[in-house]
Amino acid sequence: MTVVAAYAATSSTGPLTKTTITRRDVGPRDVRFDIHFAGICHSDIHTVRAEWRQPRYPVVPGHEIAGIVTEVGSEVTGFKLGDRVGVGCFVDSCRDCDNCAAGLEQYCIGGGMIGTYNSVGRDGQPTHGGYSGSIVVDENYVLHIPEALPLDAAAPLLCAGITTYSPLRHWNVGPGSRVGVVGLGGLGHMAVKLATAMGAEVTVLSQSLKKMEDGLRLGAKNYHATSEPGTFKKLRNSFDVILNTVSANLDLGRYLEMVDLDGVFVELGAPENPLVVPPFSIIGMRRSIAGSVIGGIAETQEVLDFCAAHGIASEIEVIAPDYINEAYERVVASDVRYRFVIDTESLRS
Ligand code: NAP
Ligand code: ZN
Ligand code: ZN
Repeated sequence: MTVVAAYAATSSTGPLTKTTITRRDVGPRDVRFDIHFAGICHSDIHTVRAEWRQPRYPVVPGHEIAGIVTEVGSEVTGFKLGDRVGVGCFVDSCRDCDNCAAGLEQYCIGGGMIGTYNSVGRDGQPTHGGYSGSIVVDENYVLHIPEALPLDAAAPLLCAGITTYSPLRHWNVGPGSRVGVVGLGGLGHMAVKLATAMGAEVTVLSQSLKKMEDGLRLGAKNYHATSEPGTFKKLRNSFDVILNTVSANLDLGRYLEMVDLDGVFVELGAPENPLVVPPFSIIGMRRSIAGSVIGGIAETQEVLDFCAAHGIASEIEVIAPDYINEAYERVVASDVRYRFVIDTESLRS
């Protein structure tokens, strides 16, 4: 075992503090890599603050991880020393069920995917995420980060990128699609960039007009503030696909009514409380409401390659680990443009 520095939460209310964790020895099929950057996803905050369920403290969050390979097991075929790699939201799954076989490991029904943190690995040990100096992961769950992508701006593609790419592909977004993106945060800004690159006409629905210039620069054709009177009425029946990336509960009926006939409202955000769906907001226009969680390993590689090919990466603010707690407050206040990424250098030494 190797001792590694990390930032961990030990309760739902206290700050994350510096500590040490252990990483397992590299097995025959494992890859060890130095973590260079780790994105801060709103899911990290929901988890450590026990907004979903009671987590297993200490929690070392981080599932947008990018770094460089330092050791490979004797049977590893896909990676070598010095490779630029990433790990997203899960580090294992049953590998046997129909969904795993179909490359949909995120929907594993043979015990479920094993989360990168706040889970228990095959070895019975708690899993710990990217707010640390290095990690050991089975090669089947490690991604290649293309040379064209900077490691820091690529890290958020491992969650925010794939989470928005997968539903855009699933619902066949392309030229002619009218896509609404609710919330311009980590997921939202990637949704705008990816849907635009796919040829869709994108509209941002943000709480205010504060980020309008950014939204249009990222590729959106239209930008509306949901706080402005008249926005919902004006945009009734306007979209084929809406991706809702908001981390809080919304007055959902008003948003659903912006979906056009046979369109779909895809819930990506995971707020603390149940969604309330007024029946007439979906039966009126034969609308669908759906959900989607991250993406499989093959599709995660696909989004990394897609971003490299299209010159897309995340818009980031790089921070030192001792800024994590302040960054959390800023994420919760929607004051992030558009992803905090931790430079983990001080955790490697
Ligand atoms: P984020 O960076 O905090 O972005 C969320 C955005 O939602 C904010 O920037 C803000 O955008 C808007 N918002 C926040 N509070 C709001 C409120 N009270 N009313 C209306 N709008 C509000 O978060 P994120 O990392 O993108 O994650 C978003 C959500 O997706 C989280 O719940 C997270 O857990 C979930 N998630 C799900 C998956 C999945 O696989 N489905 C994967 C990753 C994350 P504006 O300022 O533009 O309004
Ligand atoms: Zn995430
Ligand atoms: Zn499975």
